[in-house]
Amino acid sequence: MLLTTIAGSLPKPAWLARPEMLWAPWVLSPDLLLDGQRDAVLAALKEQESAGIDIVGDGEQSRQHFVHGFLEKIEGIDFSRRVTIGIRADRYKAEVPTVTGPLRRHGSVHREEVLWARAHTDRTFKFTLPGPLTIVDTLADDHYHDRRRLAWEIAGLLNDEARELEAAGVDIIQFDEPAFNVYLDDVESWGIDVMQRAIEGLRCRTAIHICYGYGIRANIEWKDTLGDEWLQYERNFPLLAASGIDQVSIEFANSHVPTRLLALLNGKDVVLGAIDVATSEVESPEQVAATIRRALETVPPERLYLSTNCGMAPLPRKVARAKLTALVAGARIVRTEFEASPKD
Ligand code: ZN
Repeated sequence: MLLTTIAGSLPKPAWLARPEMLWAPWVLSPDLLLDGQRDAVLAALKEQESAGIDIVGDGEQSRQHFVHGFLEKIEGIDFSRRVTIGIRADRYKAEVPTVTGPLRRHGSVHREEVLWARAHTDRTFKFTLPGPLTIVDTLADDHYHDRRRLAWEIAGLLNDEARELEAAGVDIIQFDEPAFNVYLDDVESWGIDVMQRAIEGLRCRTAIHICYGYGIRANIEWKDTLGDEWLQYERNFPLLAASGIDQVSIEFANSHVPTRLLALLNGKDVVLGAIDVATSEVESPEQVAATIRRALETVPPERLYLSTNCGMAPLPRKVARAKLTALVAGARIVRTEFEASPKD
């Protein structure tokens, strides 16, 4: 009960990539990179285990960015044709590759990474993939000229990939969809169908992570414009509750997400963001416990999991480590309260 996990990314060691930034360039030369990434995965797994995290991930140590890591090996996407576009409804600029022809996947993108991580942890292992809507939003398209069709093609590739990763030993496959909180009409009209396509036939548990973005300045400023109540989940959650997704990972700590909205995820596992990733200030265990108790007003304990609001890639490593420890300590406080209170 009240198992802990991470949203996805962890900071990379400074010997692997430039610290405290998104799209951080690799520091190692190409001939040393693969070995370095593997070592960083071992460190990430060990740090999570030492902190007491129950459901671990590879910390996304082998990809430069959570979206482009998958796309780098897809035919039809030209990384030499990079253009700067406004993404997430023009909230911030990003340099993205261009779709120049039909998309094809030649073998698994992440299978070797999964096998490596799987061989080095006995804990429940979660692997993250970018979701189709977010991928479409992080690309320039010079071929399909239709976001829905492009998303459908991508969902097919993701499904093939997810099936291979499941066979390689992944327990939970999570699709990261921050764009779900931005394109609410698209989610309703085709985003959910596309997500269903991505999880089709999977027997492992499936999750979707929907947040308000990494703790970068553009996102923090955007959140300031969203008012006293953030209601994006109000439209997404009922659609997800009716979908085949098992778990929904959400931003909650220090947010203006009304607790009542969690009830809209009825029947699904709620993976609660109980750690704010937009600040280097480390939560106290009691603060984390208070966040968890608030969610428990609405979510039954057997369906509540605890996580970070989003990936921690841009944070200093020691801050990320301390936040994982705080997450576990906060969960322990609340678990102890449950054990102490008489059962019905
Ligand atoms: Zn996120």
